[in-house]
Amino acid sequence: MLIALNDGTAEAVVRRHLRHLVDDDDEVRASPGIRGGQTSADRALAGFSVAGYAARRSQVLPETDRGASRLSPYIRHGLVPLGRAWDHVADGPARDTRKFRDELLWQEYARHLYARVGVALHRNLRFAAPWAGGFEPEAWPRRMHCVDSVVSELETDGWLVNQTRMWLASQYTVRFGAGWHAGQEEFYRHLLDGSRAANLLGWQWTVGAGTGSPYGFARWQVEKRAPQLCRACPLAQACPIEQFPAAAAPAPVTDAPANLTRDPHLAATRGPSVAVRRRAARSVLLTVDSLGDADPALEAHSALPVVFVFDEPALARLRLSSKRLIFTVETLQDLARRREVVVHLGDPRVVVPSLDAAVTSAPVPSFARYAEGAAELHPWPWLVAPHSGSVASFSAWRRASAGVVADDPGAG
Ligand SMILES: Cc1cc2nc3c(=O)[nH]c(=O)nc-3n(C[C@H](O)[C@H](O)[C@H](O)COP(=O)(O)OP(=O)(O)OC[C@H]3O[C@@H](n4cnc5c(N)ncnc54)[C@H](O)[C@@H]3O)c2cc1C
Repeated sequence: MLIALNDGTAEAVVRRHLRHLVDDDDEVRASPGIRGGQTSADRALAGFSVAGYAARRSQVLPETDRGASRLSPYIRHGLVPLGRAWDHVADGPARDTRKFRDELLWQEYARHLYARVGVALHRNLRFAAPWAGGFEPEAWPRRMHCVDSVVSELETDGWLVNQTRMWLASQYTVRFGAGWHAGQEEFYRHLLDGSRAANLLGWQWTVGAGTGSPYGFARWQVEKRAPQLCRACPLAQACPIEQFPAAAAPAPVTDAPANLTRDPHLAATRGPSVAVRRRAARSVLLTVDSLGDADPALEAHSALPVVFVFDEPALARLRLSSKRLIFTVETLQDLARRREVVVHLGDPRVVVPSLDAAVTSAPVPSFARYAEGAAELHPWPWLVAPHSGSVASFSAWRRASAGVVADDPGAG
């Protein structure tokens, strides 16, 4: 089935064509603060100054004091490629530039890790943190003003600073003891930057499944980063997180993926390093991982129509919040001002083979649904070339990254 992008606003398009796929409780409402599209991404990047980033990236309130860039939805969807964000801060103060680029490398690390271990990232990677079970809303007690405020922001805006993501993840699993996988799924449903790679990594690392050291959430962080939340809290005199939690260190898992420390299939992890042409391309296919004007397949074929497929079977399973789909529709509507864009709703395995499409390879397991029927595969634009050394921790990955390519940006 085809979806007309000119059926009104992005909200109207989602309401008319995708309503059956979004969360039932959802009103079909865009994020008030973050809009999709290359034009919005370019504006956000142009408006971001890295000065003061190192000191203020974890600030929560007041919002005007936040130093985080809020570029993550654009980075996640390829509207701001990591290399472009990297270059954007070249002239900033050295300490801020270094810190910001470190965070970009965390994003790259998440992508390398997911490309390497694939769906194994859904399970405890190295240490046995509470993992199983359905979503437990009571793990985020709304009587706690800090929790209520952050969960509301997640549900309304679909974006949180890193600090409050850690609060919620820690509260959910380290304090309440609920299995983290359902908590990360709730994040994934709402976050405009929701990616399996970074979200699974963030949860694994916060709850201790990645490092063996769970992050403890306590009043101290709230007082430091958003003291007004404590002042307005009905539990201020009986704060349930007054002390740091006494979290026991989780035991190592016995079934960690064998390829965590060594990659015997580096070529498969990396994907094609040059364009692979199977037959002549008649269209360019974009995927959620690469929706920007700098998409390599899009740049290679400036005259071909662009195709996007809303993956109906996957969306029916995921029940995303409508703001995520609205972000995608806004992005496609913005692109339609420059290129012919055709949008399908269906199963990519069925739709893609008839498209004769050129597509950029994405380092995620679900890309197999697009790769099989594509006419042309373009290389994924890695910031740092994948290597076959350890991805067991960020520092191990970073050490092994130094020197893998001549212009390795992580080496500086
Ligand atoms: C529990 C949890 C879940 C998370 N889920 C996601 C997710 O689904 N998608 C996502 O992109 N990030 C996720 N993160 C990482 C991080 O919180 C966000 O990338 C960051 O808060 C986005 O805000 P920003 O763009 O202002 O970041 P900035 O601080 O401005 O950083 C710039 C960019 O660096 C990258 N980055 C920064 N911190 C991290 C990090 N810890 N890990 C990976 N990349 C990072 C992002 O691309 C970000 O846009 C998660 C972190 C935690 C603790």
